[in-house]
Amino acid sequence: MLFSEIHSALPHIDIKERWPLSPLCTLRAGGEAEFFAAPDSIEDMKEIFSFVMKKNCPVYIIGGGSNILFPDGLVEGVVISTANLNSIEWRTDLTADVDAGFKLPMLMKEIREKNLAGMEFAAGIPGTLGGALLGNAGAGGRGVCELLDYVVSVEADGEIKTLNHGDINYSYRKCSLADKKRVIVSARMTFRTAAPKDKDVLESFLLRRGSQPHGLHNAGCTFKNPEGYSAGKLLDECGCKNLSVGDAIVSDVHANFILNRGKATSADILELIKICAKKVYDSTGIKLEPEIKIFDPCFSVP
Ligand SMILES: Cc1cc2nc3c(=O)[nH]c(=O)nc-3n(C[C@H](O)[C@H](O)[C@H](O)COP(=O)(O)OP(=O)(O)OC[C@H]3O[C@@H](n4cnc5c(N)ncnc54)[C@H](O)[C@@H]3O)c2cc1C
Repeated sequence: MLFSEIHSALPHIDIKERWPLSPLCTLRAGGEAEFFAAPDSIEDMKEIFSFVMKKNCPVYIIGGGSNILFPDGLVEGVVISTANLNSIEWRTDLTADVDAGFKLPMLMKEIREKNLAGMEFAAGIPGTLGGALLGNAGAGGRGVCELLDYVVSVEADGEIKTLNHGDINYSYRKCSLADKKRVIVSARMTFRTAAPKDKDVLESFLLRRGSQPHGLHNAGCTFKNPEGYSAGKLLDECGCKNLSVGDAIVSDVHANFILNRGKATSADILELIKICAKKVYDSTGIKLEPEIKIFDPCFSVP
């Protein structure tokens, strides 16, 4: 697709060409998007998403970029950000309509200020609500999809759809919203009034955060926990801590975190992911599945 084609079809949407992706991703790696847009209304989101889908052009949705890795070089197609869909409207004392691009830490702050609870397990998780719903982000066996009443999405044909809680299947780091290419644009969520014990639960989750690496760019856990195992423990036992490729290194604090010491490329990180997965597979026969969403068609783990 040519810039003139997309620009003349959608003249009112600000579309950038060759837009750098690494500043948008917490791993600070990846190349440039051929086209990039951050629509500031659901209507514009619907127009650009359905236009690009109709053209059969590759399309990637990005929220906070805290669980994503793009390849190096030119990423053909359109990267669409939800960053400008970022408001919240409280409907009742307990219920809010939250835009997909609203930051999860901001949502946690609002909930606490209103003396509400129910999402303590999400303390310290970066990114946006949309990204969190797509991967059912959470901790300690809990996930954000639990708190949903419904989700509003833009479907590939431009239909704006409401998906009720009962229509959505979710489990550990998995959600049926990801089964189809769609953009989550907002969600209605219901919380509950805080009880004294919620403070202790929140503190225990924050305490766990303290044991994770800080200071260097990363995307949280690299691999999902295989059923009955901790990915971090398996990686540690297979000697992965401190392994490195270029500026990408496995944390010596938590073996399931890959850190970018500065100039790691996406290729460095992908190579390190493969080496770690192979080490675990060779010594335990367990196949680790990446938790990070890797947008590289050539990538697969051994
Ligand atoms: C320090 C650190 C700690 C972390 N700790 C945790 C943790 O404890 N638990 C946990 O679950 N995760 C954790 N993560 C990973 C990450 O923060 C979460 O998965 C987060 O919910 C991703 O949200 P995001 O907006 O950054 O999504 P992105 O990284 O932008 O995108 C992730 C996926 O969601 C899709 N997506 C994003 N927004 C939308 C949308 N509106 N519509 C459709 N698709 C969309 C993207 O296409 C991509 O496939 C951590 C990450 C970091 C850096």
